[in-house]
Amino acid sequence: MDSEKNKSLNTSQEIIIKGIGGSPGICIGKAYIVDREGVDVVHQYYLFDSDLDAEIDRFKKAVMRASQEMDDIIASVPSEYQEQLYILEAHKVLLRDKQIFDKTCKMIESNKINAEWALKKVSTKIKRMFNEMSDSFFRERGADVAHVTDRIMRNLTGNKQQEQIQDINKRVILIAHDLSPAETSQIQLHRVQGFVTELGGKTSHTSIIARNLQVPAVLGITGATEVITSDSIIIVDGTKGVIILNPNDESLIEYEEKKNIFELRRKSMIRHSSKTAMTPNGVIKKVMGNIELLEEVVSVLDHGADGIGLYRTEFLYMTSRKLPTEEQLFENYREVVDLIYPMPVTIRTLDINGDKKAGYLNEQAETNPVLGLRAIRYCLKRPEIFKTQLRAILRAAEHGNVRLMFPMISGVKEIIAAKKILDETKKELSNKKIPFNGNIEVGMMIEVPSAAILSDLMADYVDFFSIGTNDLIQYSLAIDRGNHDVAHLFQPLHPAIIRLVKTVSEAAHNKKVKLFMCGEMAADPFHVPILLALGIDEFSMNPPSIPSVKSIIRQVSTEDMSPFLEKVLKQQSPDDIIQIVQDTYGDLFMDTIR
Ligand code: PEP
Ligand code: MG
Repeated sequence: MDSEKNKSLNTSQEIIIKGIGGSPGICIGKAYIVDREGVDVVHQYYLFDSDLDAEIDRFKKAVMRASQEMDDIIASVPSEYQEQLYILEAHKVLLRDKQIFDKTCKMIESNKINAEWALKKVSTKIKRMFNEMSDSFFRERGADVAHVTDRIMRNLTGNKQQEQIQDINKRVILIAHDLSPAETSQIQLHRVQGFVTELGGKTSHTSIIARNLQVPAVLGITGATEVITSDSIIIVDGTKGVIILNPNDESLIEYEEKKNIFELRRKSMIRHSSKTAMTPNGVIKKVMGNIELLEEVVSVLDHGADGIGLYRTEFLYMTSRKLPTEEQLFENYREVVDLIYPMPVTIRTLDINGDKKAGYLNEQAETNPVLGLRAIRYCLKRPEIFKTQLRAILRAAEHGNVRLMFPMISGVKEIIAAKKILDETKKELSNKKIPFNGNIEVGMMIEVPSAAILSDLMADYVDFFSIGTNDLIQYSLAIDRGNHDVAHLFQPLHPAIIRLVKTVSEAAHNKKVKLFMCGEMAADPFHVPILLALGIDEFSMNPPSIPSVKSIIRQVSTEDMSPFLEKVLKQQSPDDIIQIVQDTYGDLFMDTIR
């Protein structure tokens, strides 16, 4: 247990780790590891003698997988961050430590209990032993045992859920392996001053939520839950995508200053944001906010939005224990509609499943959920659930300015089917003499490549398109939007994406269908000149990005952008396109928060 390597775990040296900037800004505070908490609840059961060998084998395999994970993590640590390696390698050694490995095997055999239970008993005993020691060095070894046994436990249970996640009740920087939308929805978000995750990229839900909350986030920090301990001080620089563990006094002073400058700049931009975004040649572009929760409407208003371009409604389904009732949905939508009135709210129907599961729906596990029974596919299969939501939306539309939008449409038949159910719902409300507004704009997301390719046909059925680049990029480039290993390949300025948007734009404008963009591509000021050249009529994004996007729109004339667009369309790689934007509009981005 006290190998040479373990001694190096007690480091209080400053360590800088580079990840992916998911949300800009800087925070300095105490870390709170959520992954470690989650595996505390384990199933306990007794075994027959005949099952003991297989159970020990299962435990050994879980250790092997944990060891393989550690190897992968170690191999992916960049050479400049060698300090982390000591900790990770020491954890790997601990996996096979007699006190843990041998004792768990023996415990399974002698007590005839399942591996999770045995491991829990063994690890609790060791952790207690360390915790009771007066020397702080040894007490910290208890935390190392927890890291290691939790990793084995996760491999045994396959459970990465954080059961205690909702219990966080202090202002912390959240450190997690990954945060699914379901997990994030259980956190008391106002308590979080920043996020650090091992997985995820710029468009993962952790990034989106962090940007909405205006808290910094750094994702893709390999081994974060291993190298960071709860209550240690860390700096998160979401603008640069860097975290600093155990910062020294110099770094603390430097980052305190950077934080103040960032906040002053953000405030000054927000002051100007409520003004219209009009290009120098007099074209007005609407810049709207995306929300997932009713509580975010305030942020939309504070950042000078021209309305809500995307209300992701699935969160209400994910935060409750059973399907919300029509009345609950109606009340929620009506409140949003009221708060934002007279500006519009674009309510997107349920985009459940994929990466946004609601446990109580008990749907069968899917091998490939983002290509599975998600969003409109689910709603068409479960029309009663779909109609309940549609009724609530149509009723809320009586009280303000509502647009309705269908997600994940992939072909003409789907939009026809969705609209048929909408019509039936209107008739049913009418028959029952329930007040509603059926005269609302109906649109669809363009986030599946087939919908982009068929947009000329789709245009006959809708009032507007809203391009969802988060999924459009994921599906077109075959890049998992939440996988940090391929996050560098998630490129909004990929020539294929630009061409798809151009196809949609031509179809929309030929058929007089309005063209919006509500994917995160619209939130990056650097993309604005290209999106203007491509004819996007309305932008929608995480509210904190609105001021900087408006500021760029005000500086780019849309008069004769065709030479610029032609040049862009000839390029073979995202880097070439970035270079052209930089050469043509580089001056605009000197002072922008990206
Ligand atoms: C998108 O895919 O771009 C989008 C806006 O939808 P979501 O992020 O909710 O999948
Ligand atoms: Mg989407």
